[in-house]
Amino acid sequence: MGLLEGKQILVTGVLTDASLAFAVARLAQDQGAEVVLSGAGRGLSLTRRTARKLTGEVEVLEIDVTRPEHLVAAASELGRRWDRLDGLVHAIAFAPPECLGGDIFRAQWEQVQVALQVSAYSLKALVEAFRPMLAAGVSAGSGASVVGLDLDATVAWPVYDWMGVAKAMLESLSRYLARDLGSERVRVNLVAAGPVKTVAARSIPGFAAFEENWAARAPLGWDVHDSAVVAKACIGLLSDLFPMTTGEIVHVDGGVHAMGG
Ligand code: NAP
Repeated sequence: MGLLEGKQILVTGVLTDASLAFAVARLAQDQGAEVVLSGAGRGLSLTRRTARKLTGEVEVLEIDVTRPEHLVAAASELGRRWDRLDGLVHAIAFAPPECLGGDIFRAQWEQVQVALQVSAYSLKALVEAFRPMLAAGVSAGSGASVVGLDLDATVAWPVYDWMGVAKAMLESLSRYLARDLGSERVRVNLVAAGPVKTVAARSIPGFAAFEENWAARAPLGWDVHDSAVVAKACIGLLSDLFPMTTGEIVHVDGGVHAMGG
């Protein structure tokens, strides 16, 4: 029997088969879950195409996290299909080009607010939209699990700039959501991943050097093409193996976060 047998999981952020969320969706299916994906904007058709690489007919909802009407419509659409949501995967990030690249002064509030809304506030917006369905998971026995994707925000990285600030907000927000959803048996955790070559990662200028340094600094080594290691941790947190873990950040980074200079 799979670790996620019978679980109903919404996975956001699947753009291509290189997306971290794609690896999560595939492994979730392998472990017995039924998955629904969401996609946004111009990437929606790409998400639909990528969904065909999964097993069976996988539904794709339209959710641009900056559009409240999308969230409302998606929740009611999913509510017609499922009576509850056992897992929600947040794998969404975006920052305008001015927010990245190694100069924190380049971006102005106009650009920064986009990065913070899409990459961090969206966790609250998503959870809020699906909260009744997540809370309904209690009746299934184990409660529900929200898992977000993070990049360690405890230090300043060479080129990550405002995306790093957005990740710091995401980390803090996940703890507040864990506080307010515990009584509904909804757990909220993050997986802080090392760099993996995805569309989002490729759009960050200078990210290649960042990737090379990672492998050199990681006691376990690091493969920037291996999204499966990140997906495994997400599956663990979505499963019933961590029933008393919430507000946590699990590092899947080859050990880099624990190393000094
Ligand atoms: P990805 O494949 O490019 O996925 C990013 C996703 O965010 C895309 O599906 C994108 O959809 C979506 N997105 C952007 N703006 C959105 C919006 N307004 N509404 C809804 N969705 C939106 O890249 P990824 O690397 O797998 O990223 C997934 C998550 O992992 C992100 O949170 C990222 O920060 C995190 N992460 C990545 C790495 C890495 O090295 N790759 C490391 C640590 C953490 P559209 O393009 O269609 O808008």
